[in-house]
Amino acid sequence: MLRALLLAPPGAGKGTQGQRLAEEYGIAHLATGDLLRQHVAEATVLGVEAKGFMDRGELVPDRLVVSLILAALTAEDRSGFVLDGFPRTLEQAAQSYEWGRAKRSTFHAVISLAVEEDELVRRLVERGLASGRSDDNEVTIRNRLRVYDESTRPLLDFYRGRGILVEVDGAGPVPEVTDRICAALDPVLGRPRTLTTNCLLQTNPSGPGQGDVPALLRRVADTLDELGEIDVTDMVLDTSTHRDRSRPQLTVYFQPARKAGTP
Ligand code: AMP
Repeated sequence: MLRALLLAPPGAGKGTQGQRLAEEYGIAHLATGDLLRQHVAEATVLGVEAKGFMDRGELVPDRLVVSLILAALTAEDRSGFVLDGFPRTLEQAAQSYEWGRAKRSTFHAVISLAVEEDELVRRLVERGLASGRSDDNEVTIRNRLRVYDESTRPLLDFYRGRGILVEVDGAGPVPEVTDRICAALDPVLGRPRTLTTNCLLQTNPSGPGQGDVPALLRRVADTLDELGEIDVTDMVLDTSTHRDRSRPQLTVYFQPARKAGTP
């Protein structure tokens, strides 16, 4: 099952696309903003502490957000999900990567939605008028966009370096953007779903700074790690025969691990 996250500035459509992707792939949609707003509404200890940061358009401290989202992910033993609004800092990304490795469930894909800043502000002001969301006013919006640039945008390079960043144009009608995301995910999901599959073929998403062999190997290592006890029997790296030379392809052959002592 797909484990993905949406990484985009406020107003780019993370919530809308997150819901649509959750339906499309039959997975849970988890939005940190929604979880936090629920705590604020219920005036929990976490909600009371988070409220001031949210009203100013600042990030809620990592220690609060990380435990909140990891608890939500573990609560119902979710094997597939699309995260919306998490991680938002390098510290959150590093902690969720460690968590994913320990559970053999790192992210398959990080979807970045690109939208022009003027369009983001227009959409957010409009949303604020319709929904009354207190942080959708122009001053807070500008601050949230600045915070995105400073704290969250660097995550694009972090995930590009792991070879799982999928960059999609977020402008235009909602269904078209969903179609673009799904089309971009297809090659990324060319991976074995069960242990009975004994051949793994992976290429990297194409995009600036991607497609390099180290990024591909890191991604393959994470996927193999997730498969548990296996013996790799062969590997074929193909960097030459592709029409699109920027996308090296690795085929890994493997079988369930033989227990010590068995022939
Ligand atoms: P959103 O609904 O995703 O726009 O989030 C609304 C607000 O919740 C943000 O402006 C932050 O104050 C807070 N927030 C949501 N997700 C995070 C996160 N991963 N880290 C820190 N703060 C967050």
